[in-house]
Amino acid sequence: MYTTRYTHKMWWSTTKILYLSDDYLRGNGPDGGADVSKNASFSFCKKGTTLFGIPEYNKTLVDEVTPMYGNIEDKWNHVLRKIDPENKIATFEHTYQTKGEYDADLEEYDMIDHTEMVEMKYDFIHVVPPMRPVKSVAESLLGWQKGNAKGWLACDLNTLQHIKYKNVFGIGDILGIPKGKTGGSARHHGPILVENLVSVLEGKEPKAKFDGYTVCPLKTEYGKIMLAEFNYDGLAPSFPVLDPSRPRWMWWAFDLYMLKPMYWYLMMRGLM
Ligand SMILES: Cc1cc2nc3c(=O)[nH]c(=O)nc-3n(C[C@H](O)[C@H](O)[C@H](O)COP(=O)(O)OP(=O)(O)OC[C@H]3O[C@@H](n4cnc5c(N)ncnc54)[C@H](O)[C@@H]3O)c2cc1C
Repeated sequence: MYTTRYTHKMWWSTTKILYLSDDYLRGNGPDGGADVSKNASFSFCKKGTTLFGIPEYNKTLVDEVTPMYGNIEDKWNHVLRKIDPENKIATFEHTYQTKGEYDADLEEYDMIDHTEMVEMKYDFIHVVPPMRPVKSVAESLLGWQKGNAKGWLACDLNTLQHIKYKNVFGIGDILGIPKGKTGGSARHHGPILVENLVSVLEGKEPKAKFDGYTVCPLKTEYGKIMLAEFNYDGLAPSFPVLDPSRPRWMWWAFDLYMLKPMYWYLMMRGLM
């Protein structure tokens, strides 16, 4: 009996490895192992209560991908606090709410917050550490000083210009904006940043606007990828004729054969 626990902060990376390792146990993958997935149970432990923040992509994962495997249990609002590697026990902090007394005036129940520590035995555990901004930004006045994005570069979510220091612009993961911690986003930040930086050097207002473009090529099984593209407004497929919430073999082929040459010969030379 394999018991596999997953915990994460960077949820979309861990769902990839979750699905690929489960598929591998079904006998798929590069060297096609034995079909032993019936002997394995997977727990996907996560802070929050959704697999994916965009409803259309979440629906595919909830309604199709998780049931297709049949041995994955989602454990919401579970945050890893401790690991005992010798005895293979992970301890999670589980937060949840229960109904309290009924408030007749408001016609609502009071909600009571609970926290419990949950021990889980595992044979294999895959942990993604929490993402943090680099110290040099987090511990300076460049970072947001308060709120959810505390420590990440305090910049305008469209112009990527620092909110206070107008000669500072940001690119990549360090940005304290609601979306965009992917290499695909950084590629879109680049031209916006250059245009706005040149405008500011010329004494003009920065006009170019980043739209929040993010891409998560989510491997749902060996041979299939759901190319989840989105921006601040919702879905943002590069090929709108194809339903972006469908896992497709062509995105797997694209990822395998096209991305590398595109990266080295086009992106790195600033040609796309
Ligand atoms: C498991 C995983 C899978 C991913 N898959 C994808 C994917 O399929 N597609 C996609 O588009 N994106 C993916 N990403 C996200 C992508 O890797 C990042 O968005 C991207 O690398 C961000 O680039 P960056 O240059 O902003 O930051 P980084 O790549 O983090 O580069 C920052 C660099 O700065 C260096 N540094 C830090 N502090 C200092 C300092 N004080 N002085 C000097 N140097 C310093 C670091 O060592 C690092 O080399 C994935 C990320 C992870 C973790």
